[in-house]
Amino acid sequence: LTSVELTQACLDRITKVDGKVNAFLYVNAEGALETAREVDAARAAGEELHALAGVPIALKDNLVTRGIPTTCSSKILEGWIPPYDAFVVKKIKAAKLPILGKTNLDEFAMGSSTEHSAFGVTRNPWNLECIPGGSGGGSAAAVSAYMAPLALGTDTGGSIRQPGAVTGTVGVKPTYGAVSRYGAIAMASSLDQIGPVTRTVADAAALQELIGGHDPMDSTSLTDVATGLLDAARSEGDLTGVKIGVVKELSGEGYQPGVLASFNEAVANLVARGAEVVEVSCPNFDYALAAYYLIMPAEVSSNLARFDGMRYGIRVEPTEGPVTAQRVMAATRGAGFGAEVKRRIILGTYVLSSGYYDQFYGAALKVRTLIQDDFKAAFEKCDVLVSPTAPTTAFKFGEKSDDPMAMYLNDIATIPANLAGVAAMSIPSGVAEDGLPVGFQVIAPARKDDVMYRVARFVEDAV
Ligand code: GLN
Repeated sequence: LTSVELTQACLDRITKVDGKVNAFLYVNAEGALETAREVDAARAAGEELHALAGVPIALKDNLVTRGIPTTCSSKILEGWIPPYDAFVVKKIKAAKLPILGKTNLDEFAMGSSTEHSAFGVTRNPWNLECIPGGSGGGSAAAVSAYMAPLALGTDTGGSIRQPGAVTGTVGVKPTYGAVSRYGAIAMASSLDQIGPVTRTVADAAALQELIGGHDPMDSTSLTDVATGLLDAARSEGDLTGVKIGVVKELSGEGYQPGVLASFNEAVANLVARGAEVVEVSCPNFDYALAAYYLIMPAEVSSNLARFDGMRYGIRVEPTEGPVTAQRVMAATRGAGFGAEVKRRIILGTYVLSSGYYDQFYGAALKVRTLIQDDFKAAFEKCDVLVSPTAPTTAFKFGEKSDDPMAMYLNDIATIPANLAGVAAMSIPSGVAEDGLPVGFQVIAPARKDDVMYRVARFVEDAV
């Protein structure tokens, strides 16, 4: 199979099914084929190429791509063509993976269903009446519907893993700092992480190896990351000597019965492969959602201040009165941002305001430390922690879109890993009673992404 054939097959599939799914905001057909032709020519000339060269990839539309529109699914960025590439995009171009296009997301990555996109919802390929998860619903749906073999997403509170769970794909949030955030449009910088969306664990490992590595342009980029991810994802033998911790707080009340059944079966399969199971308690995880919804909006309100109607995207002038900088900014932000983004900016400026700072933001930071301590204590008893990735399978459109709290609760199991900066991923573990896919989450200590991939490989093996 040549890269041109593979890329063309993906583009044909997009033409055929994306009218229904709406995973892509922009299709880069000519650009992708051009890269594919280069790969085929280089291969014919006997050139040494990266193992993933010629394999097409889709990118979440909050990753900056030079010359290709990047919207974050927001009206405020409409018409903006970035003058530079994100670090991960540079890596992808250097390794010659054809870029198929940009995928849909909740506006500025805020949401769990892709319903908060300014450019229409993405539908779940398993059931078009259901959400594909979020915020990275577009990348997950593109991989799930065979429009792209590989994709990238970003995960601030679960936006790679939860879409992975509800679309039956593999989704990875690497250790914080393992992949440079340079050129990922910031949502909440202390939580954001770029990662792979794929069909297999080995594909994810290969892709993380490609996009990882130190970057001086990101001050939180690590120099000592785990290596040997692909080897770990293909490891032979069994799990003898590996201790798996089932997190009590993440596998009981509030979880759909079919999700729990699939989870318990996957745990039993790991035991059958030699793993030892221990139950661990992380009592402060009960406060993770509350802490996240204080820390994240605080960072959002600061990060999104740059969208002022002067630097990027649209500019809206006030309809009456003087045209001052402040009034242009207000008119632009009023017209450009959607309701969920506005809700979080207002929440964030409130929790950071003097008089409330200690009570809300300061308290949330203390809870964050307690959650990190819970992880530390738990990892003294086991090598990895496991839980269902999401409490439910894909829900129907509209079911939670009017109730922010119900939507936020879907991230209950994914958020702790972001608050602690540890590595976490979702692997499909079968289907629930409703016939929809279930995700199994494996969490490993920071810089131990290899251990996570090794366990994930055996989860995948049993399905
Ligand atoms: N769903 C979560 C939120 O709405 C996570 C978002 C994300 O990871 N980008 O904040």
